Amino acid sequence: MGNQLIYLDGDFVKKEDAKVSVYDHGFLYGDGVFEGIRSYNGNIFRLEEHLVRLYESAKSILLEIPYTIEEMTEVVKETIKVNSLQSAYIRLIVSRGVGNLGIDPRSCKQASVIVIAEPLALFPAELYETGIEIVSASSRRNRSDVLSPKTKTLNYLNNILVKIEANLAGVSEALMMNGEGYVAEGSSDNIFIIKDNKLITPPGYIGALEGITRNAILEVAAKKGYEATEGVFTRHDVYVADEVFLTGTAVEVIAVVKVDGRVIGDGTPGKVTNDILEGFRAIVEQDGVKAYDEKTTVV
Ligand code: PMP
Repeated sequence: MGNQLIYLDGDFVKKEDAKVSVYDHGFLYGDGVFEGIRSYNGNIFRLEEHLVRLYESAKSILLEIPYTIEEMTEVVKETIKVNSLQSAYIRLIVSRGVGNLGIDPRSCKQASVIVIAEPLALFPAELYETGIEIVSASSRRNRSDVLSPKTKTLNYLNNILVKIEANLAGVSEALMMNGEGYVAEGSSDNIFIIKDNKLITPPGYIGALEGITRNAILEVAAKKGYEATEGVFTRHDVYVADEVFLTGTAVEVIAVVKVDGRVIGDGTPGKVTNDILEGFRAIVEQDGVKAYDEKTTVV
């Protein structure tokens, strides 16, 4: 997108001019928080939930976001509108801002707010038909009592190390266990296993981000009459599950058909996974905040 405009601390600037200082503590130390949000045909899916998670992550690290949630909602909508987008991936970043070289956040006088909206780079459609293969990573999820995986901070090295393991194994995603060996999540998505038509996903305290998609899937599943709960499980339970899928803003719901060489089910996306994906896609244009005001039709 040649003339893309990025929101940067109160102004919309051209992509090539959207730069942050080398003294920004987000850059120097990963000190900040972020969100990945998606707009479906002008509907910003569950924007309120994303903003609650953003503000809670910020509170957790004592970072004061200089806007109210209402103001931030308008900034996100504006970013979609000035770029004339309907379906988009939105990245919202709040960094501690510019300070000196020491880690002390008190040298940062003002948090910096950036919103980027880009046309969606859709996942290849064939992956939804074939499902994906994953491996389990040897890197463990960072401990909940060190840096809570429930916060979405700019400190993503733990996830990046896991993504590197997936790359080295030649697959698209890898699974993280926590220190006790319980399954936590993927490098940037949540996991669900299905056994006897029951859906289970690890609870946040195990070491999972409480994904907005994950929460939506729990609701969709319940509405469709499936039993869907949080639960603690190990790799063994993944290997012997009837179906496995991953969820996330970018990927939505994607079937996993092989884990560490073990074929899941019959090696194709299962019928519950497909049913859930269909249920999810049915709500994505409704649950959220409209970027554009409803047009009034004159009859
Ligand atoms: N876990 C991690 C570590 C993530 O980065 C993401 C992506 N935000 C998810 C899970 C999925 O969360 P969501 O459904 O809110 O995108």
